[in-house]
Amino acid sequence: MVGGVGIGGDNPIRVQTMTNTDTLDIEATVAQIKACVKAGCELIRLTTPTPRHAQALGAIREALAKDGITIPLIADIHFLPAAAFEALKWADKIRLNPGNFLDGKIFRELAFNDASYAKEIERIEESLLPFIEAAKTAGKPIRIGSNHGSLSDRVLSRFGDTPQGMVESAMEYLRIFKKYDFEEIIVAMKASDPLIMIEANRLLVSIMEKEGMDYPIHLGVTEAGNGEEGRAKSTLGIGTLLLEGLGDTIRVSLTEDPAKEIPTCYGILQATHRRITRAEFISCPSCGRTLYDIEEVANIIKERLGHLKGVRIAIMGCIVNGLGEMADADFGYVGGAPDKVNLYYKKELVRRDVPQAEAVDALIGLIKEKGMWVEPIV
Ligand code: SF4
Repeated sequence: MVGGVGIGGDNPIRVQTMTNTDTLDIEATVAQIKACVKAGCELIRLTTPTPRHAQALGAIREALAKDGITIPLIADIHFLPAAAFEALKWADKIRLNPGNFLDGKIFRELAFNDASYAKEIERIEESLLPFIEAAKTAGKPIRIGSNHGSLSDRVLSRFGDTPQGMVESAMEYLRIFKKYDFEEIIVAMKASDPLIMIEANRLLVSIMEKEGMDYPIHLGVTEAGNGEEGRAKSTLGIGTLLLEGLGDTIRVSLTEDPAKEIPTCYGILQATHRRITRAEFISCPSCGRTLYDIEEVANIIKERLGHLKGVRIAIMGCIVNGLGEMADADFGYVGGAPDKVNLYYKKELVRRDVPQAEAVDALIGLIKEKGMWVEPIV
């Protein structure tokens, strides 16, 4: 559980993002979180570089509660152990980056033999132990999140800048947490290259399995960029792993307003059939045979019917490929003659030659008739 939100097991795959405001700017951060919640975000991470930032999470929580918002707050910790300890008081979950926390990266080549490497792991274990005990007492879960771009010099010197290095960086921490019976863990492997991120997650799962670990996994392609490029990379990385049955929570990292990440998250979950939250549309690309303005109509239908969770609606310009393509659809909206639409229910023609101007209302009427309509939540 992260606050009141369950992750892993039979829980739905959770959607999260991260604020990009200064966490000390309570007003701006609260406004941004509200916008993300409105878009459907279920967990939110905040930059928490110092104990003061950790305390700000308390004020942010209080302000959100005034509007009845209880979204779990996650403290993102990189360097300062003091910030991590303070965050245990204020956050619902702490994210640690093992490449930065108690270790470091100053782009130095370090030479380790087996004995000196093991000694470093012992040092990390000793330093980590008080935090593990404090997290246990606080009852707060921890995310161990490796980033391809911030592996420690120690890990780099042994494993290089590789998926194996990312996995080992997390596994070192996981072994220590497990040794001290701390199991409230989520793991993440992020890289800006989706291929590296995919490989790292696959490797992580195979090594965790060998070592008897079964922790929930957070998926994301970090620094994916913006616009179409960022969405394509995120869809490839997150979608591939979701189809393999991996992933319990996701974030699409875009160089955009964080609330804009949320629709893409739900789009990926819907397309991979891992979490259905809205209607499923099948629409043809249109061609010279198209009998009405399909782009405009598809937008209108999506807007008016998008909330019908799990209902499959096909929008076809004509009947040439229409029937085959909409075989799995519950309802079909198909061009029959110029500006005339035929409506189908489960492949059966039920309304012929409906004037295009009336066809969307007629489709809604048909959906109501079949008992599959629900009113949209305003
Ligand atoms: S369904 Fe008809 S209009 Fe749509 S792409 Fe195919 S042939 Fe063209």
